[in-house]
Amino acid sequence: MCETKKLPELFGSLVFNEGTMKERLSSASYSAWKKCVTEGTPLDLSTANEIAEAMKQWAVEKGATHFTHWFQPMTGVTAEKHDSFIAPVGGGKIMMEFSGKELIRGEPDASSFPSGGLRATFEARGYTAWDPTSFAFIKEGSLCIPTVFCSYSGEALDKKTPLLRSMDEVSRQAVRILRLFGDTETKRVTAQVGPEQEYFLIDKALYEKREDLRMCGRTLFGAKPPRGQELEDHYFGAIRPRVAAYMKDLDETLWALGVLSKTKHNEVAPAQHEMAPVFSDANSACDQNQLAMEMMKKVADRHGLVCLLHEKPFAGVNGSGKHDNWSLSTDTGKNLFKPGSTPRQNAQFLLFLAAFVKGVDDYQDFLRATVAFPGNDHRLGAQEAPPAVLSIFLGDELSAVVDSIINDTDFQSTGKRTLKIDVDSLPAIPQDNTDRNRTSPMAFTGNKFEFRMLGSSQSISGPNITLNTIMAEELEQFADELEVSRDFQADLEKLIRRVFTEHQRIIFNGNGYDEAWLEEAGKRGLSNLTSTADALPMYTAPKNVDLFVKHGIYTKEEIEARAEIHIENYSTVICIEARTMTDMIRRQILPAVSAFAGDLCSRAGTKKDLGACCQYEVSTACQIGSLTDALMAASDKLETDLSAIPADAAEAMRYSHDVLIPDMDTARRAADQLETLTSSDRWPFPTYSDLLFSV
Ligand code: ADP
Ligand code: MG
Repeated sequence: MCETKKLPELFGSLVFNEGTMKERLSSASYSAWKKCVTEGTPLDLSTANEIAEAMKQWAVEKGATHFTHWFQPMTGVTAEKHDSFIAPVGGGKIMMEFSGKELIRGEPDASSFPSGGLRATFEARGYTAWDPTSFAFIKEGSLCIPTVFCSYSGEALDKKTPLLRSMDEVSRQAVRILRLFGDTETKRVTAQVGPEQEYFLIDKALYEKREDLRMCGRTLFGAKPPRGQELEDHYFGAIRPRVAAYMKDLDETLWALGVLSKTKHNEVAPAQHEMAPVFSDANSACDQNQLAMEMMKKVADRHGLVCLLHEKPFAGVNGSGKHDNWSLSTDTGKNLFKPGSTPRQNAQFLLFLAAFVKGVDDYQDFLRATVAFPGNDHRLGAQEAPPAVLSIFLGDELSAVVDSIINDTDFQSTGKRTLKIDVDSLPAIPQDNTDRNRTSPMAFTGNKFEFRMLGSSQSISGPNITLNTIMAEELEQFADELEVSRDFQADLEKLIRRVFTEHQRIIFNGNGYDEAWLEEAGKRGLSNLTSTADALPMYTAPKNVDLFVKHGIYTKEEIEARAEIHIENYSTVICIEARTMTDMIRRQILPAVSAFAGDLCSRAGTKKDLGACCQYEVSTACQIGSLTDALMAASDKLETDLSAIPADAAEAMRYSHDVLIPDMDTARRAADQLETLTSSDRWPFPTYSDLLFSV
């Protein structure tokens, strides 16, 4: 459908974007919308009515028949409830209708969405309210209107509301700092985000044969294939035709939806790929990433493929993450993390850098908690991707600058000038864009930070809410201090030196995978929360609750509700995996290996009668026999332990981690060994070689 269109025409063709609004709205309504978006002024109902009418006409022209408020409940995926535009007009006829009221507010039944206890059961109503800062778009015949989702009493039940709150807050505090540096122009500072999305593609027919993939999104069994990622031939390798066709279709689908899909390439593991969009404001980046994940799956289906977004679909090869590139920019077009060419710009850059370093150090535990969920436990701290310890990579050049500030010494790298924070003598800070340290969880890459601990399946909202909020907190502290200063330059210098000195422990430029680093990190007092069960309790640590409450991002109840949802989710996911595992063991693996061993025994009997050698049959049947018993025992234990799961959510999380996961590991070991002994035509489902090299 899209192929004949030229790209600029195709791009955003399904989006009711600013250009379309300019074209279709009266100039008064367009200006009212613009003012609403840039200054936060509310829209009156007559403007909303006009926008709704224009949206409807545009959507109907494009073939839409329905509209839906599109929102992001705390499940981490998107939700939608479709209403058609039709309204009866008598005589068996209809007209197409859509009012400003319907645009602005919806009332979906919220009772089946997780609320973490926020919404009393007697009050099932939830409200969705239009987010005019994110464009409406058409998806599968429905006009989708991005909305926030809250309870009857106004508590946020979604992932968009707090993100918008955090964007406002970081803007407010950043503008205060800019004023101190004489910037009187900037009205708003916006968090910019570019999420790189990794995924696996496998053949759909093979996927269908694996209950674990269908139920859990990852394999629970699978012996190591003869070939994994050892040859290092996949990363950036030539893209195979079927994958290329998928990527082309995906790009066109995303472009039509206004998603700025920019790069695509093969990733490290076989069957693994990546898509990265051009960065945009954090709110649309989050919406667009949700849309991208949805489309990745849907487009795969059209190609007889399945797109796996799970963090660890296959043991033994790399898992999938999401690199969250984050920066702050002004409405005058300046990136606040770009070192400048003048001393004044550099002093400002160093102050923002200091705020970031302090924020990550102060809230490392919370940042870790925002990326904690069962799928990500297979990556973080598990010898791949970044470690579970948070640290910041600054690169050698910038670290040398920071060191010279701390030690009040010459800036060695340029060699020529003394670096004093005393604004006038600041040298140009060299830009180090050559970051190839892939082991750091938080890397400065020239003009932005790359937060690399996110899992591929997760909403990027939580981590960005946190980055925005910790930045707002530190900038607020700095502004409070500097606004009352009588000698700005001297106090600025002192503050920057003090902050870098107090928080230098979080800066680490070495190899994050190294065991020695974990030891060193321990000595530095950095937290090492190796699993979700260890990390999630940090959600409600008093200092973290205080931070979010103080900045109005979450109320105490909202943050507690979120913690509860994540904690419950943990044991729910582990229990589903455990049940799937026992099901596959009982109904697929045990019968298959038993039948195969039985065949071996009867063949051995026949051979023996004939006086032929039967060593293979006998020894294999014996090995299979003892592994089969071990597998049955492991499965029995898993079932027994599953039935003893504690009722309390926090205890259930601990128990799932401490008891069920080791049980599952034991069962898997026996099953994977059995796979290597069983005739390939008797193994009940596709193997790793089948799956990883299927496309
Ligand atoms: P790499 O794979 O080397 O990390 P990519 O180019 O694949 O780099 O991805 C970098 C991502 O960072 C892209 O989404 C890009 O748009 C985004 N990005 C670039 N500059 C900024 C910025 N100032 N703020 C936020 N994101 C940015
Ligand atoms: Mg990257």
